[in-house]
Amino acid sequence: MLLYFLQAQKTITLDAYRWIPTFTMLLSSLREVVLDANLELVRRGLVLYTFGNVSGIDREHGLVVIKPSGVPYQEIKPDQLVVSDLDGQVVEGNLRPSSDLPTHLLLYKAFPAIGGVAHTHSEYATAWAQACQPIPCFGTTHADYFHGSIPVTGSMADHEIASDYELNTGHAIVRVFRNIDYAAIPAVLVAHHGPFCWGPDAAAAAHNAVILESVARMAYFTRGIHPDAQPVGRALHDKHYLRKHGTYAYYGQAKEVK
Ligand SMILES: [Zn+2]
Repeated sequence: MLLYFLQAQKTITLDAYRWIPTFTMLLSSLREVVLDANLELVRRGLVLYTFGNVSGIDREHGLVVIKPSGVPYQEIKPDQLVVSDLDGQVVEGNLRPSSDLPTHLLLYKAFPAIGGVAHTHSEYATAWAQACQPIPCFGTTHADYFHGSIPVTGSMADHEIASDYELNTGHAIVRVFRNIDYAAIPAVLVAHHGPFCWGPDAAAAAHNAVILESVARMAYFTRGIHPDAQPVGRALHDKHYLRKHGTYAYYGQAKEVK
Protein backbone atom coordinates (compact mmCIF):
# COMPACT_ATOMS: atom_id res chain seq x y z
CA MET A 1 0.00 0.00 0.00
CA LEU A 2 2.97 2.28 0.51
CA LEU A 3 3.48 2.48 -3.22
CA TYR A 4 -0.09 3.57 -3.82
CA PHE A 5 0.21 6.14 -1.08
CA LEU A 6 3.39 7.52 -2.59
CA GLN A 7 1.76 7.68 -6.00
CA ALA A 8 -1.23 9.49 -4.56
CA GLN A 9 1.15 11.99 -3.02
CA LYS A 10 2.86 12.41 -6.42
CA THR A 11 6.18 11.34 -4.92
CA ILE A 12 6.42 8.37 -7.27
CA THR A 13 5.41 8.27 -10.92
CA LEU A 14 3.26 5.60 -12.48
CA ASP A 15 6.16 4.68 -14.74
CA ALA A 16 8.09 3.62 -11.68
CA TYR A 17 5.53 0.88 -11.02
CA ARG A 18 6.53 -0.89 -14.20
CA TRP A 19 9.89 -1.73 -12.66
CA ILE A 20 8.45 -3.27 -9.53
CA PRO A 21 8.01 -6.99 -10.29
CA THR A 22 5.47 -7.79 -7.56
CA PHE A 23 3.14 -5.01 -8.65
CA THR A 24 3.42 -5.95 -12.29
CA MET A 25 2.83 -9.65 -11.64
CA LEU A 26 -0.16 -8.98 -9.41
CA LEU A 27 -1.93 -6.73 -11.84
CA SER A 28 -1.01 -8.70 -14.92
CA SER A 29 -2.60 -11.81 -13.46
CA LEU A 30 -5.82 -10.03 -12.51
CA ARG A 31 -5.87 -8.20 -15.84
CA GLU A 32 -5.74 -11.52 -17.71
CA VAL A 33 -8.64 -12.93 -15.71
CA VAL A 34 -10.75 -9.80 -16.14
CA LEU A 35 -10.03 -9.51 -19.85
CA ASP A 36 -10.96 -13.15 -20.44
CA ALA A 37 -14.15 -12.69 -18.42
CA ASN A 38 -15.08 -9.70 -20.60
CA LEU A 39 -14.38 -11.73 -23.74
CA GLU A 40 -16.53 -14.56 -22.39
CA LEU A 41 -19.51 -12.22 -22.69
CA VAL A 42 -18.68 -11.82 -26.38
CA ARG A 43 -18.12 -15.54 -26.94
CA ARG A 44 -21.52 -16.33 -25.42
CA GLY A 45 -23.37 -13.64 -27.37
CA LEU A 46 -24.32 -11.55 -24.36
CA VAL A 47 -23.09 -8.18 -25.59
CA LEU A 48 -23.36 -5.99 -28.67
CA TYR A 49 -20.65 -3.53 -29.65
CA THR A 50 -19.24 -2.00 -26.44
CA PHE A 51 -22.20 -2.86 -24.18
CA GLY A 52 -21.45 -4.47 -20.85
CA ASN A 53 -18.48 -4.70 -18.57
CA VAL A 54 -16.73 -7.05 -16.17
CA SER A 55 -14.44 -6.13 -13.30
CA GLY A 56 -12.38 -8.01 -10.74
CA ILE A 57 -10.99 -6.95 -7.40
CA ASP A 58 -7.72 -7.53 -5.58
CA ARG A 59 -9.01 -7.41 -2.02
CA GLU A 60 -5.55 -7.39 -0.49
CA HIS A 61 -4.65 -4.10 -2.14
CA GLY A 62 -8.14 -2.68 -2.56
CA LEU A 63 -7.74 -2.35 -6.33
CA VAL A 64 -10.31 -3.02 -9.03
CA VAL A 65 -9.53 -3.86 -12.66
CA ILE A 66 -12.30 -2.96 -15.10
CA LYS A 67 -12.92 -2.71 -18.82
CA PRO A 68 -12.20 0.70 -20.35
CA SER A 69 -15.17 2.72 -21.54
CA GLY A 70 -16.22 2.52 -25.16
CA VAL A 71 -13.44 0.29 -26.50
CA PRO A 72 -14.56 -2.63 -28.73
CA TYR A 73 -13.96 -5.93 -26.96
CA GLN A 74 -11.85 -7.41 -29.75
CA GLU A 75 -9.39 -4.52 -29.50
CA ILE A 76 -8.86 -4.54 -25.74
CA LYS A 77 -5.35 -5.43 -24.61
CA PRO A 78 -4.56 -6.34 -20.99
CA ASP A 79 -2.67 -3.09 -20.41
CA GLN A 80 -5.71 -1.09 -21.56
CA LEU A 81 -7.80 -2.27 -18.65
CA VAL A 82 -8.16 0.38 -15.99
CA VAL A 83 -7.07 -0.04 -12.37
CA SER A 84 -9.04 1.93 -9.80
CA ASP A 85 -9.04 2.10 -6.05
CA LEU A 86 -12.28 1.65 -4.14
CA ASP A 87 -12.85 5.41 -4.15
CA GLY A 88 -12.88 5.48 -7.95
CA GLN A 89 -9.44 7.03 -8.30
CA VAL A 90 -7.61 5.60 -11.31
CA VAL A 91 -4.20 4.38 -10.17
CA GLU A 92 -3.12 2.93 -13.51
CA GLY A 93 -4.45 3.23 -17.04
CA ASN A 94 -4.57 5.79 -19.79
CA LEU A 95 -8.18 5.18 -20.77
CA ARG A 96 -11.33 6.11 -18.91
CA PRO A 97 -12.89 3.25 -16.96
CA SER A 98 -16.34 1.92 -17.75
CA SER A 99 -18.93 4.49 -16.75
CA ASP A 100 -20.52 1.81 -14.55
CA LEU A 101 -17.44 1.71 -12.30
CA PRO A 102 -19.25 3.40 -9.36
CA THR A 103 -21.88 0.63 -9.42
CA HIS A 104 -19.16 -2.04 -9.34
CA LEU A 105 -17.31 -0.29 -6.50
CA LEU A 106 -20.42 -0.04 -4.35
CA LEU A 107 -21.14 -3.75 -4.85
CA TYR A 108 -17.57 -4.60 -3.78
CA LYS A 109 -18.05 -2.53 -0.63
CA ALA A 110 -21.50 -3.88 0.20
CA PHE A 111 -20.83 -7.53 -0.67
CA PRO A 112 -17.45 -8.33 0.91
CA ALA A 113 -17.27 -11.94 -0.31
CA ILE A 114 -17.45 -11.16 -4.02
CA GLY A 115 -14.41 -10.90 -6.28
CA GLY A 116 -15.96 -10.05 -9.63
CA VAL A 117 -18.92 -8.17 -11.13
CA ALA A 118 -20.43 -8.56 -14.60
CA HIS A 119 -22.99 -6.30 -16.26
CA THR A 120 -24.68 -6.96 -19.58
CA HIS A 121 -27.73 -5.98 -21.58
CA SER A 122 -28.30 -9.60 -22.62
CA GLU A 123 -31.68 -9.77 -24.31
CA TYR A 124 -33.82 -12.08 -22.21
CA ALA A 125 -32.54 -10.96 -18.81
CA THR A 126 -32.92 -7.35 -19.91
CA ALA A 127 -36.46 -8.03 -21.14
CA TRP A 128 -37.39 -9.22 -17.63
CA ALA A 129 -35.64 -6.14 -16.19
CA GLN A 130 -37.53 -3.82 -18.51
CA ALA A 131 -40.79 -5.51 -17.52
CA CYS A 132 -39.73 -5.02 -13.86
CA GLN A 133 -40.53 -8.67 -13.22
CA PRO A 134 -38.43 -11.00 -11.06
CA ILE A 135 -37.48 -14.26 -12.77
CA PRO A 136 -39.22 -17.12 -10.98
CA CYS A 137 -37.40 -20.39 -10.47
CA PHE A 138 -39.34 -22.57 -12.89
CA GLY A 139 -36.89 -25.46 -12.94
CA THR A 140 -33.72 -27.13 -11.82
CA THR A 141 -31.39 -25.21 -14.16
CA HIS A 142 -32.27 -22.06 -12.27
CA ALA A 143 -32.18 -23.87 -8.91
CA ASP A 144 -28.68 -25.18 -9.59
CA TYR A 145 -27.31 -21.63 -9.56
CA PHE A 146 -29.73 -19.32 -7.77
CA HIS A 147 -31.39 -20.13 -4.47
CA GLY A 148 -34.55 -18.17 -5.19
CA SER A 149 -36.10 -15.97 -7.85
CA ILE A 150 -33.90 -13.31 -9.45
CA PRO A 151 -35.01 -10.08 -7.80
CA VAL A 152 -35.64 -6.78 -9.53
CA THR A 153 -34.79 -3.39 -8.08
CA GLY A 154 -37.26 -0.61 -7.52
CA SER A 155 -37.44 2.12 -10.14
CA MET A 156 -35.02 4.94 -9.45
CA ALA A 157 -36.30 8.38 -8.52
CA ASP A 158 -35.61 11.34 -10.80
CA HIS A 159 -33.11 12.85 -8.38
CA GLU A 160 -31.24 9.53 -8.19
CA ILE A 161 -30.95 9.58 -11.97
CA ALA A 162 -30.03 13.24 -12.24
CA SER A 163 -26.86 12.96 -10.16
CA ASP A 164 -24.58 10.08 -9.20
CA TYR A 165 -26.70 7.83 -11.41
CA GLU A 166 -24.27 4.89 -11.48
CA LEU A 167 -23.66 5.08 -7.74
CA ASN A 168 -27.40 5.20 -7.10
CA THR A 169 -27.83 2.19 -9.33
CA GLY A 170 -25.57 0.38 -6.87
CA HIS A 171 -27.63 1.61 -3.94
CA ALA A 172 -30.81 0.34 -5.64
CA ILE A 173 -29.20 -3.09 -5.94
CA VAL A 174 -27.97 -3.17 -2.36
CA ARG A 175 -31.43 -2.21 -1.05
CA VAL A 176 -32.87 -5.33 -2.71
CA PHE A 177 -30.37 -7.53 -0.90
CA ARG A 178 -31.09 -6.24 2.60
CA ASN A 179 -33.06 -9.44 3.18
CA ILE A 180 -31.53 -11.67 0.51
CA ASP A 181 -28.23 -13.56 0.68
CA TYR A 182 -26.13 -12.11 -2.14
CA ALA A 183 -23.97 -15.25 -2.19
CA ALA A 184 -26.99 -17.51 -2.73
CA ILE A 185 -28.51 -15.33 -5.46
CA PRO A 186 -25.55 -13.77 -7.32
CA ALA A 187 -27.65 -11.75 -9.77
CA VAL A 188 -30.15 -8.92 -9.91
CA LEU A 189 -32.26 -7.16 -12.50
CA VAL A 190 -32.00 -3.38 -12.40
CA ALA A 191 -35.45 -2.08 -13.30
CA HIS A 192 -35.75 -0.73 -16.86
CA HIS A 193 -32.04 -1.43 -17.38
CA GLY A 194 -30.53 -4.91 -17.20
CA PRO A 195 -28.75 -7.52 -15.12
CA PHE A 196 -25.77 -7.28 -12.81
CA CYS A 197 -24.15 -10.53 -11.68
CA TRP A 198 -21.27 -11.31 -9.35
CA GLY A 199 -19.21 -14.20 -8.04
CA PRO A 200 -16.01 -15.14 -6.22
CA ASP A 201 -13.96 -13.79 -9.14
CA ALA A 202 -14.46 -12.13 -12.52
CA ALA A 203 -14.72 -15.46 -14.35
CA ALA A 204 -17.47 -16.63 -12.01
CA ALA A 205 -19.32 -13.33 -12.42
CA ALA A 206 -19.27 -13.71 -16.23
CA HIS A 207 -20.30 -17.36 -15.90
CA ASN A 208 -23.27 -16.36 -13.77
CA ALA A 209 -24.23 -13.74 -16.37
CA VAL A 210 -24.26 -16.46 -19.03
CA ILE A 211 -26.35 -18.80 -16.88
CA LEU A 212 -28.72 -15.97 -15.96
CA GLU A 213 -29.39 -15.24 -19.63
CA SER A 214 -30.13 -18.92 -20.26
CA VAL A 215 -32.44 -19.08 -17.25
CA ALA A 216 -34.19 -15.86 -18.30
CA ARG A 217 -34.74 -17.26 -21.79
CA MET A 218 -36.17 -20.53 -20.49
CA ALA A 219 -38.43 -18.69 -18.03
CA TYR A 220 -39.72 -16.52 -20.88
CA PHE A 221 -40.61 -19.62 -22.91
CA THR A 222 -42.12 -21.32 -19.88
CA ARG A 223 -44.46 -18.39 -19.35
CA GLY A 224 -45.27 -18.37 -23.07
CA ILE A 225 -46.22 -22.04 -23.09
CA HIS A 226 -48.16 -21.79 -19.85
CA PRO A 227 -48.90 -18.29 -18.51
CA ASP A 228 -49.88 -19.70 -15.13
CA ALA A 229 -46.78 -21.89 -14.73
CA GLN A 230 -45.75 -22.12 -11.09
CA PRO A 231 -42.25 -21.98 -9.61
CA VAL A 232 -40.71 -25.25 -8.47
CA GLY A 233 -41.49 -26.29 -4.93
CA ARG A 234 -39.09 -25.62 -2.10
CA ALA A 235 -38.00 -29.27 -1.86
CA LEU A 236 -36.82 -29.47 -5.47
CA HIS A 237 -35.31 -26.00 -5.35
CA ASP A 238 -33.33 -26.79 -2.19
CA LYS A 239 -32.30 -30.20 -3.48
CA HIS A 240 -30.69 -28.79 -6.61
CA TYR A 241 -29.13 -25.74 -5.05
CA LEU A 242 -27.78 -27.45 -1.96
CA ARG A 243 -26.30 -30.44 -3.78
CA LYS A 244 -24.01 -27.98 -5.63
CA HIS A 245 -23.48 -25.36 -2.91
CA GLY A 246 -23.02 -25.31 0.80
CA THR A 247 -21.79 -27.64 3.49
CA TYR A 248 -23.28 -30.87 2.15
CA ALA A 249 -22.69 -30.33 -1.56
CA TYR A 250 -21.98 -33.55 -3.44
CA TYR A 251 -22.33 -32.58 -7.14
CA GLY A 252 -19.24 -33.02 -9.33
CA GLN A 253 -15.95 -34.69 -8.48
CA ALA A 254 -14.55 -34.79 -4.97
CA LYS A 255 -11.75 -32.29 -5.59
CA GLU A 256 -13.66 -30.11 -7.98
CA VAL A 257 -14.52 -26.58 -6.95
CA LYS A 258 -18.30 -26.54 -6.81
ZN1 LIG B 1 -26.06 -0.97 -18.57
